[in-house]
Amino acid sequence: MAIHGPVTLYGTFKMNESSLSFLKALLETPSPSGYEAKIQRLIREWAGKFADDVRTDRHGNVHCVKKGAKSGQGETQKLMLAGHCDQIALMIQHIDENGFLYVQPIGGWDMQILLGQHLSVWGRNGAINGVLSRKATHLLTNEERNKVPQFSDVWVDIGARDKKEAESMVTIGDTVTVRLGYSDMINGLACSPGMDDKVGVWTVMEALRLVSDKSPWIDIHFVSTVQEEIGLRGATTSAQGILPQVGLAVDVTHATDTPGTDRKNLGEVKLGAGPVIHRGPNFNPKVVDRMIDVARLSDIPHQLRGVPKGSGTDANAMQTVGEGVAMGLIGVPNRYMHSPVEVVSLKDLENSANLLAEFCLSIKPEDSWIPE
Ligand SMILES: [Zn+2]
Repeated sequence: MAIHGPVTLYGTFKMNESSLSFLKALLETPSPSGYEAKIQRLIREWAGKFADDVRTDRHGNVHCVKKGAKSGQGETQKLMLAGHCDQIALMIQHIDENGFLYVQPIGGWDMQILLGQHLSVWGRNGAINGVLSRKATHLLTNEERNKVPQFSDVWVDIGARDKKEAESMVTIGDTVTVRLGYSDMINGLACSPGMDDKVGVWTVMEALRLVSDKSPWIDIHFVSTVQEEIGLRGATTSAQGILPQVGLAVDVTHATDTPGTDRKNLGEVKLGAGPVIHRGPNFNPKVVDRMIDVARLSDIPHQLRGVPKGSGTDANAMQTVGEGVAMGLIGVPNRYMHSPVEVVSLKDLENSANLLAEFCLSIKPEDSWIPE
């Protein structure tokens, strides 16, 4: 195993070199919700090396199965792990006579952060450069300067001469992302658009690699889900297809270690302090306890966060499928979620994948998740 070893505040760490390249490839591949085919190809290629079976369902979710030692012997349970591969993006809604594109959001954007971004417009022949802009500051009226613009107040400029030229390259319904790309930061941190939730699907696929040469008791379904950002849709269909007894979702969670973040309401979550184990009504108490036990036994640093309602993650959709799925949620601490500069700690990623893999190996066919 190759060692990749920047020194961090938290000690030297190693990330498998091919796993790190896979993470970067995920982050550099566009995956707007509903337009995930490209990234799912990458997932299938990775999972093909480690899973017993890889298939894509009609909705676009990629299911990767690692068979358990007890597979096919009577009534054994199934574990489903989900990370969503889609990212927030924009969609072309209107092309004006001068060739400027008007867009609508796919998922939740902060307009104040989007303005002035370099964009990639995913037209029929691949990516075209564009910028999201409005008038220069000198030309804004006072009223315009003091209000947050709406999507109808800003446009994407791809440099087209007119509508005809724009239409020769892009079509209504094409997607637009901020310019994709990964940057290392000091102390083992990394920055990229779309960390939400490519680090989650990476964690699930890295856990598949980690258990691939082990012998789990039960069948484990590692799923790259689609359309999370527009309503947890892929987790719903894939969980309905699998009908697991127990499941874990992996998604980013807000780090509260930046200025102005309210720890009294959001709890205390630090980048680099390990995966976040969630507690609350969306989560099965036995699954939560198992995760905490596994983390302690395996010496994996971890943090706790309470969520007093259904979480805004795949765990929420999966919990209410069939007779109910015993759910847990692993959160990867993330700063500046839904911005072009989402920051995570690589060490947290590695610890999240280790926790997930150890959880997989801890489950016995006779384990019951019925709360008591
Ligand atoms: Zn999100």
